[in-house]
Amino acid sequence: MQEIKEYVKIKKQELKQEIAQLPTPIHAKIFQVGHVPASDRYVRNKLKDLAEVGINCFCFWCPEDISEDSLLDLLDAANHNCEAGYLVQLPLPSHIDAEKVKLAINPMKDIDGFHPLSKTVPATPLGIYLYLKDMNYNFVGKNAVVIGRSDIVGKPMAKLLLQESMNVTVIHSKTSEADKANYIKNADLIIVATGHINTLTKDYEYKQSAVVFDVGINTDANGKLVGDCEPNLPVAFQSPVPGGVGLLTRLAVIHNLLYLEKIYNIL
Ligand code: NDP
Repeated sequence: MQEIKEYVKIKKQELKQEIAQLPTPIHAKIFQVGHVPASDRYVRNKLKDLAEVGINCFCFWCPEDISEDSLLDLLDAANHNCEAGYLVQLPLPSHIDAEKVKLAINPMKDIDGFHPLSKTVPATPLGIYLYLKDMNYNFVGKNAVVIGRSDIVGKPMAKLLLQESMNVTVIHSKTSEADKANYIKNADLIIVATGHINTLTKDYEYKQSAVVFDVGINTDANGKLVGDCEPNLPVAFQSPVPGGVGLLTRLAVIHNLLYLEKIYNIL
């Protein structure tokens, strides 16, 4: 597998050239509510990436105490008036129903693929999938284990891998430790997205040829950014944290924007 940083750098150059050839510039908008430190970092990085490839993007920041109705009104306005793809940075404060927000997004402008009718796929699983495709990963008939079943990572990831004819097992917090160990032992590809440090450790048995993508972003007791997996697992490839899935996710955001523009031509 190519180093993810190197891969992303090359892909960004390709996307930049593709975007430069479009007849009109693409526009994007990010809605952020409040200031969760991790979200601040994601938003900053996404804005940087989009600018780098020539997409006009800005962040519409809303105060932490914005009401659900006011946020939905803003999205309604973006759906009708604004010629831009957009995403709503999660998590949202607890007084706002994230499901309602996802359903309020116009699928034709949905960069993150959150609306059920969107033609885009959530950026994290898409980023991992596109990387594997570019690495000519041979999916067919192999065993994939997805740890975590969220709507934005685990479930869409499982769907993409199933479409590639993998044997997909999705495990979660109710899976027994014995079953987990058994699935891991036989896995060719493991996607870990739990938000819990040490979900995978060296204590499990792995195939030497296994490929592991660590989606998790956590802060350890020393304030260091770490994934869901212990580093240096005895496998053929393990994506690093930071500098792994986060970069692939950001690349997929650009990919989704370009895709929306190609199919709807309204951004
Ligand atoms: P959610 O909290 O929505 O889902 C976590 C999932 O993990 C749930 O399905 C939960 O099971 C499962 N789970 C929790 N603990 C365990 C465990 N010990 N063993 C097995 N399964 C477990 O999280 P997200 O999917 O949104 O995100 C997961 C992680 O990925 C977070 O750290 C998040 O910050 C990070 N992330 C990183 C991105 C990136 O760009 N790198 C992008 C998106 C997310 P159950 O359903 O039973 O509760």
